[in-house]
Amino acid sequence: MAETIEADKSAESKGLSFVEQIIVDDLKAGANSGRLQTRFPPEPNGYLHIGHAKAICMDFGAAEKFGGKCFLRFDDTNPIKEDTEYVDAIREDIHWLGFDWGENERYASDYFPQLYDLAVRMIKEGKAYVDDQTSEEIAAQKGTPTTPGTDSPYRNRSVEENLDLFERMNKGEFEEGARVLRAKIDMASSNMHFRDPIMYRIIKTPHHRTGTTWKVYPMYDFAHGQSDFFEGVTHSICTLEFVPHRPLYDYFVDFLTDGTYRPRQIEFNRLNLTYTVMSKRKLLQLVKEGLVAGWDDPRMPTISGMRRRGFTAKAIRNFIDRIGYTKIEEAMISVSLLEHAVREDLNAIATRCMAVMNPLKVVLTNYPEGQVETVEMENNPEDAAAGTHKMPFSREIYIERDDFMENPPKKFFRLAPGAEVRLKGAYIIKCEEVIKDAEGNITELRCTYDPESRSGLPGANRKVKGTLHWVSAPHAVDATARIYDRLFNVENPSAEEGDFRDLLNPDSLTLTEGIKIEPFIAENARPGEKFQFQRIGYFTPDPDSTPGNLIFNRTIALKDSWEKAQKKNV
Ligand code: ATP
Ligand code: MG
Repeated sequence: MAETIEADKSAESKGLSFVEQIIVDDLKAGANSGRLQTRFPPEPNGYLHIGHAKAICMDFGAAEKFGGKCFLRFDDTNPIKEDTEYVDAIREDIHWLGFDWGENERYASDYFPQLYDLAVRMIKEGKAYVDDQTSEEIAAQKGTPTTPGTDSPYRNRSVEENLDLFERMNKGEFEEGARVLRAKIDMASSNMHFRDPIMYRIIKTPHHRTGTTWKVYPMYDFAHGQSDFFEGVTHSICTLEFVPHRPLYDYFVDFLTDGTYRPRQIEFNRLNLTYTVMSKRKLLQLVKEGLVAGWDDPRMPTISGMRRRGFTAKAIRNFIDRIGYTKIEEAMISVSLLEHAVREDLNAIATRCMAVMNPLKVVLTNYPEGQVETVEMENNPEDAAAGTHKMPFSREIYIERDDFMENPPKKFFRLAPGAEVRLKGAYIIKCEEVIKDAEGNITELRCTYDPESRSGLPGANRKVKGTLHWVSAPHAVDATARIYDRLFNVENPSAEEGDFRDLLNPDSLTLTEGIKIEPFIAENARPGEKFQFQRIGYFTPDPDSTPGNLIFNRTIALKDSWEKAQKKNV
């Protein structure tokens, strides 16, 4: 282990991950005629999640960086769980992340004929046999890492009988589970994967590509290395749980290689995030049981969910870049690291604008009725090229209910009876009167404005302690905000006893209806658009949004820098 860590460090000092270092060394040594080919091998049994993004960035990234190719290979060896919906979603997500495989889209099912031929060859060589036992019986004979397994009573069948049975398995003569094909290796091996692993099982569900051609389907271990070989993959990069599978990977490749070329499996640590589950089985359960609105629900750790939420591909890639690749199993990466990368990118690109989440009407009693002024708002202080947009100002405006207190504590620098605040980009106002309904709820504020306090006028630099966001009431457009919080209440849902669904955060989604947005936002509420509602957070239009029913997803809250800055001004 110490050696591995050393290797990691030396690679890092050159700015390369240990995987990239292996690739560079292989290329330098002329392995596989100096060719570099990787693959990303998703099983189309669910949508891609942020963990897959880590693998994608490595597989496609390394190929791009060192002049190789990366194939997209769907690992479609189990028709029971797989679907073309997933194939399409996977393609879309990889493209969105910024990678492309061109012509190089393949399916493990493309290799079913070659895999079958190899199985037949292994039977003929006495290296594979048909086992009639149930999966329970086979599991019971497996032994433990410290005690050898027991030979199957069918282990020494004749080649002829094995060939006949395997062929009939594939014709559909036997029920699912009645028989399997196993490699005849070593029931006493210290590597459990060598204890006569299953190569083929019977499945009668039609396959999304090959239909009913096959009734036997290869197991992952019998398909993956050989598919890599048939495809020409040189570096087969995967996650650490495959380390113990590597000898078996090599064992099967040995049947195929003539020694001039062979794919090499390299493993890195998988990504686990706090407050998140990454198991596709659990994510599927959330979707199937309607506990979320679908695979692309903005609370899901899926690429499509994050996209819908308003995360950017750049933020995700920056995050992956920062966490890096090692040989050490890391317990958990904090989700706040991902959120930091999202804020960082949105800060650079999001259009600043104003929206009031919980509106309180303010009437400026000394402002001429019917008058409308236009104020110029900077679109992004981080980006001079982003320009400005216009915002109407009038006699009636909305401010945030929270920005007013009738009996404020000492350090409340927002609006209160008799107090002054600046409306961002516009005038200073002073609260003169509080209007209430019969129940005593505040319904409106009457204020006066200082006509000299606007930018370009003599009072423009007059200092007041608070600055509020606002929208002009007659111009404001109504919208709904979907506010997301963490999907789970506990840091590591997978480590808890019991049902993971009991750990769901009941407040992971709250709807805020009747928010008031400035007209500019409504006019630009196209899918994918990124806004910063000032002092509130980053928002993006949801695909459900229509011009008559605007819906925004809160991507993430601001790290309340505004509030902090105000505190500093005290
Ligand atoms: P399962 O096999 O249980 O359905 P999986 O997450 O392994 O789920 P695959 O579609 O087989 O799903 O994964 C495709 C590739 O993505 C594999 O190479 C796998 O190692 C990688 N991958 C999956 N999850 C992660 C993760 N959390 N971090 C990094 N890589 C991952
Ligand atoms: Mg897998």
